[in-house]
Amino acid sequence: MKIYNTLTKRKEEFAPLEPGKVKMYVCGPTVYNLIHIGNARPMIVFDTVRRYFEYKGYEVNYVSNFTDVDDKIIKKAIEEGVDADTISKRYIAECKKDMEALNIEPATKNPLATEEICGMLDMIQTLIDKGYAYAAADGTVYFRVKQFKGYGKLSHKNLEDLQSGFREIKVTGEEGKEDPNDFVLWKPKKEGEPYWESPWCEGRPGWHIECSVMAKHYLGDEIDIHAGGEDLIFPHHENEIAQSEAANGKPFARYWMHNAFLNIDNRKMSKSLGNFFTVREVCEKYDPQVLRFFMLSAHYRSPLNFSAQLMEASKNGLDRILTGMEKLKEMEARTAGEAMSPQEEENRGKAEALARKYEAAMEDDFNTADAISAVFELIKLANSTVTEESSHAYVSWLKGELERLLGVLGIRTEKKAEVLDADIERMIEERQAARKAKNFALADEIRGKLLEMGIVLEDTREGVKWKRA
Ligand code: AMP
Ligand code: ZN
Repeated sequence: MKIYNTLTKRKEEFAPLEPGKVKMYVCGPTVYNLIHIGNARPMIVFDTVRRYFEYKGYEVNYVSNFTDVDDKIIKKAIEEGVDADTISKRYIAECKKDMEALNIEPATKNPLATEEICGMLDMIQTLIDKGYAYAAADGTVYFRVKQFKGYGKLSHKNLEDLQSGFREIKVTGEEGKEDPNDFVLWKPKKEGEPYWESPWCEGRPGWHIECSVMAKHYLGDEIDIHAGGEDLIFPHHENEIAQSEAANGKPFARYWMHNAFLNIDNRKMSKSLGNFFTVREVCEKYDPQVLRFFMLSAHYRSPLNFSAQLMEASKNGLDRILTGMEKLKEMEARTAGEAMSPQEEENRGKAEALARKYEAAMEDDFNTADAISAVFELIKLANSTVTEESSHAYVSWLKGELERLLGVLGIRTEKKAEVLDADIERMIEERQAARKAKNFALADEIRGKLLEMGIVLEDTREGVKWKRA
């Protein structure tokens, strides 16, 4: 299995640290808002990577964090007049709902930054003891970048270039830095912010340290795969390497995987540019499976442009696959005969060759685009070879094969159950009653349930209107 490694800029044969096991860490979102579909790209891509490893028989320990203490969370908490914890808990719950809709397997562990402070204090102390970090007069602790010889090896930057870029920049509040490249491990609290006691000051961690600590805590000093979006290569992942390798004295991650951006009008989709769609919004229009299928229709290292046209194409493509699967299921129930005919044996050979093509695509740095082409070919083969006269053995084998391959892509093959108008109207009435009783949590829950069933509500002056998405 070949994986493109950002560290070496080459595709490399995958060799796990421990036979049969994969230790994988994926940087997760900062939780202060509903996630947008750009954030969903790494979630879907690396979930598919994990599923492929599992398909190959590996046991995957998949760790992905939630950053639940951060400037943006604190800002939002102040705006709403609640504490930071309320904000992060709310958006972790919302994010998990989106992930479930996108059929992302729950991680082995989703650590929270605020629950790992002890480990962070330990690692920072180790870095200070080893001369890799220092506390400034105001209690800020910085990582001493010059001390770490490998700095820049992931982003392929050298320290001199970085240095010259910083020459004229003086940032207020960072007067205690020995060097402009040094980065924060721990910083003093500001008025109204959450804080923890530490040997240096009452304060909170810098962003990078949490991932080094969580990876160590749940996976160990050395891990197989570390992943995230390509915007994380520098400085986040570069700094993680510096922290982990300096503290642990061992190489950190063997393979660094980065997905390219999800763009809109050829610009990165991002919260700060305001050019984003939330997963929630898109799933009001499309079945979440369509979004997942769309994301996997391109190779993860290629930029992907989001457009209504491409989503429609994905919807049609997925429909073709699911209709083919429906037909197979129907035929499976209607056919008999436990032996394949010689013709079916031959077709089975063709299908096996297509399954190998699928695997070869996945083993070439997870080329899901080519893997999906192989699935289309298999569906075509099924459509042209399965009839009322087929043997049960052939139909059932082909269906199983397709289900397995689609399962790796996280595509569910059952068609959504038909939702009856009467059920929808009953649920809308229940929601109205909940709202009257000011039970807004229940009202939202019912709205959410309807959404999962593909029903969109609109509150208008004439009352509640609904439509099928
Ligand atoms: P953030 O919450 O911004 O730290 O992002 C969480 C994850 O989403 C990181 O792995 C980012 O690299 C990734 N990400 C954010 N925006 C995009 C985008 N437009 N396309 C692909 N990945 C993104
Ligand atoms: Zn991280």
